[in-house]
Amino acid sequence: MSISDIIKGSKEFQNQTYLDHKENFIDLIDNGQKPKVLFIGCSDSRVVPNLITNSGPGDLFIIRNIGNFVPPHDVDFPSTPAAIEYAVSALEVDTILICAHSQCGAIRSLYQDLDAPEFKHVKRWLSLGQKAKNIIDLTDKSETLDEKFHNLEKVSAIFQAENLLTYPSIKERVEAGKLEIRVWHYSIRDGKIEEYDKNVAQFIPLEK
Ligand SMILES: [Zn+2]
Repeated sequence: MSISDIIKGSKEFQNQTYLDHKENFIDLIDNGQKPKVLFIGCSDSRVVPNLITNSGPGDLFIIRNIGNFVPPHDVDFPSTPAAIEYAVSALEVDTILICAHSQCGAIRSLYQDLDAPEFKHVKRWLSLGQKAKNIIDLTDKSETLDEKFHNLEKVSAIFQAENLLTYPSIKERVEAGKLEIRVWHYSIRDGKIEEYDKNVAQFIPLEK
């Protein structure tokens, strides 16, 4: 889709889609946004949070970044932590949903040489996936690279959920039962979503 298609689409939005949702938008202005869920997903254009959750305006507070990573509280990456703090302490969401996905370029890039200066920030950002990569390199017995990446996408998401607990405000709310952290893996090819069940240490398909 080119930029002229995008502009055409935005005209159609103003002429039709906006009008279909007008009351909802006005209500969200008059009464403010009160999303219950912070969705942390990948920037990948194939992962569309509102589409895969059948939700709309006001439903999800969304953070998207390369790899759906969560920097630990004491690591200096301000953008994602700022949005996390706002969602948790200002909006008081009751759920944080980390959504990993299949064919994730960030996860694959953990195995690529990114020493060129034009990837300086990418390289530093991807260090947030390093711990999970180390575990997979030590333990994974996959026969194909695709399978290995698939497992790493899931393991990384679990590590990102652990990073959330390094935020004092999150830890406190989770321990008080006011906030829940959930981990999903979305498969682009078949549209299936699995959720991590820590009781059995496995990803289980979400019931259709
Ligand atoms: Zn991705």
